[in-house]
Amino acid sequence: MKKLLTGNEAVARGAYEAGVTLASAYPGTPSTEILENIANYKEIYSEWTPNEKVALEVALGGAIAGARSIAAMKHVGVNVAADPLFTVAYTGVNGGLVLVSADDPGMHSSQNEQDNRYYAKSAKFPMLEPSNSEEAKDFTKLAYEISEEYDVPVLLRLTTRICHSKGLVAFEDRKEVEMKKYEKNIKKYVASPANGRVMHVELEKKLKRLEEYSNKISINKAEYNDTKIGVITSGVAYEYSKEVFGDDVSFLKLGFTFPVPKDLIKEFASKVDKLYVIEELEPYLESEIKAMKIDVIGKDIIPITGELNPDIIAEAVFGQKRASVEKNEEKIIARPPTMCAGCPHRGFFYELSKRKDLIVTGDIGCYTLGSAPPLNAIETCICMGASISSAHGIAKAYKQNNRQQKVFSVIGDSTFFHSGMTGLLDIVYNKGNVTTVILDNRITGMTGHQENPGTGYTLMGEQTEAVDLGKLVNAIGIKHVDIINPLDLEQCKNAIDKAMKINEPSVIITKWPCALKKYTNAEKEEYELDRQKCVVDSEVCKKCKMCLKVGCPAISFNEETGAVIDQAMCVGCDVCSQVCPFDAIKKVGE
Ligand code: SF4
Ligand code: SF4
Ligand code: SF4
Repeated sequence: MKKLLTGNEAVARGAYEAGVTLASAYPGTPSTEILENIANYKEIYSEWTPNEKVALEVALGGAIAGARSIAAMKHVGVNVAADPLFTVAYTGVNGGLVLVSADDPGMHSSQNEQDNRYYAKSAKFPMLEPSNSEEAKDFTKLAYEISEEYDVPVLLRLTTRICHSKGLVAFEDRKEVEMKKYEKNIKKYVASPANGRVMHVELEKKLKRLEEYSNKISINKAEYNDTKIGVITSGVAYEYSKEVFGDDVSFLKLGFTFPVPKDLIKEFASKVDKLYVIEELEPYLESEIKAMKIDVIGKDIIPITGELNPDIIAEAVFGQKRASVEKNEEKIIARPPTMCAGCPHRGFFYELSKRKDLIVTGDIGCYTLGSAPPLNAIETCICMGASISSAHGIAKAYKQNNRQQKVFSVIGDSTFFHSGMTGLLDIVYNKGNVTTVILDNRITGMTGHQENPGTGYTLMGEQTEAVDLGKLVNAIGIKHVDIINPLDLEQCKNAIDKAMKINEPSVIITKWPCALKKYTNAEKEEYELDRQKCVVDSEVCKKCKMCLKVGCPAISFNEETGAVIDQAMCVGCDVCSQVCPFDAIKKVGE
């Protein structure tokens, strides 16, 4: 049976068919759906972890115990997991271990375009790069064979286009794999310096064997056609190149890309007149090939930034644009990204944006959009958790230079659990005085509503302990904690004013569920969620445009009649009505 699956669904299916019994991840686009789909297979225990380091360590634990295990994350998540990552190849595994890195060329939903193929090389993981959904499933299964045969973890590198585009995938039965026997082996699993030195030597020997394997493995294959031009490629770039060149040129399609199959490349290069390397992002293969003293054309014509596509490749190689569908650019309306209508962050950001005496550091999540006009409330965004620690650095630098500056950091609940907590601990320990605002929308919002330690549910749908953020920050050492309703602008203003006067670390928790959340009965009871929508009384509206400053996409403006609220979008959060100085925004029916 064949089914149309995304690459992420196919990886989940591959893990199922490979007999995996343990899976862990922190959600992050474009990798999120891997675990969401694995959670549908009851044969696999699956969990969201607070961050990617924990995810890899949980999966490693499963593999050491002897179970086939998988950890999935987006490319920047691998940075968070980098600490265990660099030792895992040394210790090796027991049951097979696969780490999925979902890279995001083009930065559809990321803060950078890092190419994680270099992680495979530097952390010494063998790497597989599927080009489509079928390969995503097959390579996942193959990864377990390699992992157990060579006693190494394997990196499965996907990119956004593979993760999210669909292709036909052949379904096979699950192979039940017995847990391997765990044996206490201190020399193998204790990476102390004395053991680590031996492990490294052994790993280098394995890599030599793996290079021989990569020269022979069938997923590295030459397709000979006309040999005037040869193209070496991997991942989705293979599909694009095939679309551009068809059967007019020869291809060396690489699915196993670390260790690089040097003999195979030399043989292919010797048979073609002109050699191109077509790969997305960095010149990973190109550098390896040039180091072998083989002439190739690569990044001198193929862009190093952004996603590739057939048009880009055709233009780079042939110097002319391909014919494509005409579109009228004037009719395409630019829509800046914005927080949803009724987003619980909007009210707090509106109040924050009125303060000119503050530096506000931001973090990764929906609330990063608080940096966009008209709110302009956030001034930095670097990586998960950086809002709190960098705010501390800013405040300390001002203090050390005898200047006064109040600094606020804003971070979401899930991001706080991910890597914000340690920053807050640092502030308490090192006597900082930053105010940390935890925007608790009761869910992991931006990645599509995954549960987290604060929500009371696990990935597998079980009820669990919901961490109380107020008590948690108290326990870390914060004495001043304000828990407020962010839809109430007066409460937001008062909380900010109060925090401005406190000369020690403080925390404001804005607690209100995401406007798009599927509410639990408990939430429906706790919050008034069946709110009447708002409407503008055009007789009263003075066209002052104050309501536009909250940036709600449900509000538009008509020069004739004044502000207009789109009833399909409005959720009746009342933030705009609190801003209107003329009381022109009312509840429908009032
Ligand atoms: S998904 Fe939820 S938290 Fe994110 S912008 Fe929309 S309403 Fe706000
Ligand atoms: S703030 Fe009130 S008066 Fe001003 S444009 Fe909006 S609805 Fe009209
Ligand atoms: S009440 Fe106002 S701010 Fe809230 S969703 Fe409706 S239009 Fe937007």
